[in-house]
Amino acid sequence: MSTASQTGTPAPGQLTFVAPRRAKPARHLADLTMAERRAAVAELGEKPFRADQLSRHYFERLNGDAATMTDLPAAAREKLGAALFPRLLTPVREITCDGGTTRKTLWRLFDGALVESVLMRYSDRTTMCVSSQAGCGMNCPFCATGQAGLTRNMSTAEIVEQVVAGARELAAGEVPGGPGRVSNVVFMGMGEPLANYKAVIGAVRRLVEPAPSGLGISARGVTVSTVGLVPAIGKLADEGLPVTLAVSLHAPDDELRDTLVPINTRWKVAEVLDAAWEYAAKTKRRVSIEYALIKDINDQEWRADLLGKLIRNKLVHVNLIPLNPTPGSKWTASRPEDERAFVRRLEHHGVLVTVRDTRGREIDGACGQLAAAE
Ligand code: SAH
Repeated sequence: MSTASQTGTPAPGQLTFVAPRRAKPARHLADLTMAERRAAVAELGEKPFRADQLSRHYFERLNGDAATMTDLPAAAREKLGAALFPRLLTPVREITCDGGTTRKTLWRLFDGALVESVLMRYSDRTTMCVSSQAGCGMNCPFCATGQAGLTRNMSTAEIVEQVVAGARELAAGEVPGGPGRVSNVVFMGMGEPLANYKAVIGAVRRLVEPAPSGLGISARGVTVSTVGLVPAIGKLADEGLPVTLAVSLHAPDDELRDTLVPINTRWKVAEVLDAAWEYAAKTKRRVSIEYALIKDINDQEWRADLLGKLIRNKLVHVNLIPLNPTPGSKWTASRPEDERAFVRRLEHHGVLVTVRDTRGREIDGACGQLAAAE
C-alpha cells in the first residue's frame, strides 16, 4: 500500500483538521488511567488489583504479553490479554545507521495505516521521536509527511506503544551502548500533535506518570512540537504538564510563513509567538523555536535580524535545522556561511541558538523525512 492510496494528496496550502472517518483502534491498557483500568478489570469479573499487576507488567517490565504473566490465574491471562493488550503496532521494517544508535521503525497499524518512529541514542540521553498521526494535514511544502495528507489520528496507546517498543530494545541491550532507558520523547514524528490533542495529552500523561501508572519519564524530557495551533497551545499551558513546547516557526514574517507553514494563514507569527510567551510564563519552561534553514528562502541575514528582534529577552531557544532533502522538493539546506551568519545575527541579539544535528538523514529518518512508505 502506498501513502497516496490511503488519502488524497492535498492541494498546495490546503489544510485538513478532521481526519477521514475510520474505524478506531482497539482499547489498550495504555489508553486508560489507573482508575479506568481498575474499572475495566472489574467489568471483566476480575479483582481490581489485577489492574495494578497488569500495569506493572506493562509499564515497569515493558511486557504486553499476558500469556507470560504467571502471577495471574491462567484463565484471567487470556481474558485480560484479549481485552487490554490488543496488538496495535506491527513492525514492518527497522533500519539503522550511526552504528546502530539511530533506528527508524516503520509500523503498520491495525487498519493498514503506516507510521514511523525513530530512536536516537546519544552519549548522555536516548530520545524517541514518535508519530501522533498517520500522515499530517498541515501541508508544509518542505516536509515529506505533509505531502501525503492526513490518514487518521492515532490513539493514546498507539503513541505510547512506540515509546515502549524503543524502551524494550534499550532494556534488552539491542541498542549499542549497553542496556539503557528512554530519557526523552519528542512529538516530532509524523503528524501535528496539537491537531490530535486529546490522544496526545493522554500519551504525555502515560509517559510522565510514575510506574505503575506510566513510564515515569521526566516531563522536562518531553517535547511537543507544533506548527502553531494557537488555541491548543493555550490549552496545553493549562494542563499542568511542564513539557517543552517547540514552535515550528521557519519564518519571522507573515508573507513568507504563509507559504512555508500554511496554518499561518489562520494564526499569524505575532499570535503564535504571543501564545508561546504565555506558555513560557505559565510553565516556566523555555520555549523552543524550530527554524529549518532553506537556501535562499528564509536564511537571509535580515530575516535573522527580524527574528532576533521578535524574540530577544524572552524565555526562548532557537533550534536551527539544516533542511533535510525530501522527494520532489526543489529546496536544499543553506550554505554553511549563510548558516553561520544566521547564527551570529541571532547571537548578536542575545538569543540562545543551536544547530540541530541531522541524525538519520541517510535512512530518511531525519526531521521532515518520515513518509512511511513500504
Ligand atoms: N507537526 C509538528 C511536528 C513534526 S515535524 C511540527 O510541525 O512542529 C518536526 C520538525 O521538523 C518541525 O519543526 C518541522 O517543521 C521540521 N521539518 C519538517 N520538514 C523538514 C525538513 N525537510 N528539514 C528539516 N526540518 C523539517
